[in-house]
Amino acid sequence: MNSTKYYFDYNATTPTDSRVLEAMLPFFSDNFHNPSSFYRQAGDARDAIDKARENVAKLLNADPKEIYFTGGGTESDNLAIFGVVSRYREKGNHIITSAIEHPAVLKSFEFLAKKGFETTLLPVDKYGLVDPSDLEKSIKDSTILITVMHANNEIGTLQPITQLAKIAHKKGIYFHTDAVQAVGKIPVDVKALDVDMLSFSSHKIYGPKGIGVFYKKNKVKIDPMIFGGGHENGLRAGTENVPGIVGIGKAAELALLEMADEEKRIRPLRDKIQKGIIERIPEILINGDTDQKLYNTLNVSLRYIEGEAILAMMDHEGFSLSSGSACSSKSLDPSHVLLALGLKHEDAHGSLRISLGKYNTEDDVDHLLDVLPGVAAHLRRMSPFWDKK
Ligand SMILES: *Cc1c(COP(=O)(O)O)cnc(C)c1O
Repeated sequence: MNSTKYYFDYNATTPTDSRVLEAMLPFFSDNFHNPSSFYRQAGDARDAIDKARENVAKLLNADPKEIYFTGGGTESDNLAIFGVVSRYREKGNHIITSAIEHPAVLKSFEFLAKKGFETTLLPVDKYGLVDPSDLEKSIKDSTILITVMHANNEIGTLQPITQLAKIAHKKGIYFHTDAVQAVGKIPVDVKALDVDMLSFSSHKIYGPKGIGVFYKKNKVKIDPMIFGGGHENGLRAGTENVPGIVGIGKAAELALLEMADEEKRIRPLRDKIQKGIIERIPEILINGDTDQKLYNTLNVSLRYIEGEAILAMMDHEGFSLSSGSACSSKSLDPSHVLLALGLKHEDAHGSLRISLGKYNTEDDVDHLLDVLPGVAAHLRRMSPFWDKK
């Protein structure tokens, strides 16, 4: 590990589990062969891909034939959206999502809006929840796709996916969910959810980066977006990333075995942080404060302070934290998720996302609670807004 001593940014990415890395290593060296080749050794790579597909299918309660490997969560989201609009644009040009999606979805929608598609972004309430009746009202005869994320990456809110998918299906519309933050943390059963398509990513579940999964019901037909040698049943061409596939397969196998115990361990740590912050720091907001959320995620606004300043000072103290999503925290715009909850710009600016995972200990949590109140008090003493409030 590098100098990061206190890592609280598991929703941005996770370290690769050493058991995952160990399973991957032979496929860089001894078993380097192209799985499409004729000779015997290629069979080992093919077998490893089959086994990984089975492990991923088991995690989702899917059929292995419904699992496609991609280059990550972003690519899977893009495949769902562009694969549907390419194939069904004759049927209609209206697509629906929520206002708090990951950029992988929102930017795809922005692009399609410029290309003449009609897009609807469903609002959320102050907890980050989509109202199913809003979805119902937004559907038109021209709607061809609805995509709503399972768990939000910034605030952790869990959407009522089963209910939303049912509304889509009543009108014969395909339903996709970005489940990148849900898979591996909570049970995700594609049959119970009854979604047509689902995306998730390896590097959010202790696997390597640059590999993801796209789930699609067998009877759902979409266009491929990457053309070539017919890999992945013709839906995603390109020589398979064998080490990556082995990695996501192993990560899926471990998640299925260990997820329930991890929840029991991590939830109390997250709750301890929330309680400690409320007790020790005045003028804070818990963003998306609902029971319907991931057990590892906490998003707080420390009012009258800049999020960037907190991040920098906490970084200096050895803490890796985020202000919203990793993708937007480098820009100065406040989080689109927090604004959608109805937060004022200045409160959205003072936000801090704390996301826990496998390697956090009670000592990490105690140290965070020792350091953060001092940092907040220090920054507030320098804030021109603190005195005037
Ligand atoms: C991380 C993330 C993605 C993107 O996945 P990558 O594998 O990094 O491309 C998409 N959606 C959500 C909700 C995420 O958290």
